[in-house]
Amino acid sequence: MTKRDLKSLTIDELTEVILSLGEKKFRARQLYDWMHVKLARSLDDMTNLPKGLRSRLAEEFKMISLEVVDVQVSEIDGTRKFLFGLDDGNVIESVWMKYKDWASVCISSQVGCKMGCRFCASTLDGCVRSLTPGEMLDEVYKIQSEMGIRVSNIVVMGSGEPLDNYDNLVKFIRMITDENGLNISGRHITVSTCGLVPQMYRLADEGFEITLALSLHAPTDEKRRKLMPIANKYSLSEVIPACKYYFEKTGRRITFEYALTAGENDSDTEAEELIALISGLNAHVNLIPVNPIKERSFVRSDAERIQRFKSKLEKNRINVTIRREMGKDIDGACGQLRRKHMEEHVSC
Ligand code: SAH
Repeated sequence: MTKRDLKSLTIDELTEVILSLGEKKFRARQLYDWMHVKLARSLDDMTNLPKGLRSRLAEEFKMISLEVVDVQVSEIDGTRKFLFGLDDGNVIESVWMKYKDWASVCISSQVGCKMGCRFCASTLDGCVRSLTPGEMLDEVYKIQSEMGIRVSNIVVMGSGEPLDNYDNLVKFIRMITDENGLNISGRHITVSTCGLVPQMYRLADEGFEITLALSLHAPTDEKRRKLMPIANKYSLSEVIPACKYYFEKTGRRITFEYALTAGENDSDTEAEELIALISGLNAHVNLIPVNPIKERSFVRSDAERIQRFKSKLEKNRINVTIRREMGKDIDGACGQLRRKHMEEHVSC
């Protein structure tokens, strides 16, 4: 029998567990506080819980605690890439980024990804499995503990398609924003999707304040299909209305991510097509100079082209930024550290 993970349980679920063991309700709060505020690594740390209760819990439950397998530190800006081991032997990547007076963590939502975007390293071997809420929480908890600085922002932009792991993602968001837990503001959380339309509508209705980022990457269906297989399933005539709905329901401005790739999506025509597609939407475009991966031949647009593309959008009153590159020297494209680790440690 696989043991249930205590860290994935909400306070109500945990209370049920505690009551079923014949214990008093306040023990659930204590346990929750140890896991989600004090960031305990194991039941042994929880010294104000009776030993008997701890060992009974350990018989039936486990408590996820990620293992730090590797850390890469950028000498340029201090960005850290963590490689974490899961208890089934899989590994995932998370990134810590320090800005002026705040820190942000980029987490993975799945081991690998099945979406098949052509420029992305995370998807090259498909999706192994989805992460549990406890595993996603622990990406943040372990990094906060290691760094000793409060994490204030979270971007779900690591490996995986978060909306393909919908229920666990939603539970993760409820728990990380819980005032009895780390209490991170929903306004400081961004979830990025390749555009799973039905789940975008569901997310809009959850009552969250989080930002939704849509990986657009091309302004027409024809070009988008070349880069992103999901565009065969959902056309822009479905994706864009889902973005509009998200904004109407939540009041949160959509972010469009656009990875500029030389000769693929960076011409003046494409800038004009993009303007036509999103003009009038309350949105923000984040231009990402594509991160080349060795398995594919995509090349990043040069600085001049990027600037030209940007100013074309600006002239049409579209809100646009170029993503600041963090951790350039420890490299970049998400999923690459995990792949390197697998190549070195798994012989198949
Ligand atoms: N599955 C989600 C989250 C994945 S990664 C999504 O598709 O949005 C977060 C962002 O990084 C996405 O916009 C993704 O398209 C982009 N990305 C992936 N590989 C990249 C690369 N090599 N260079 C630049 N951006 C990349």
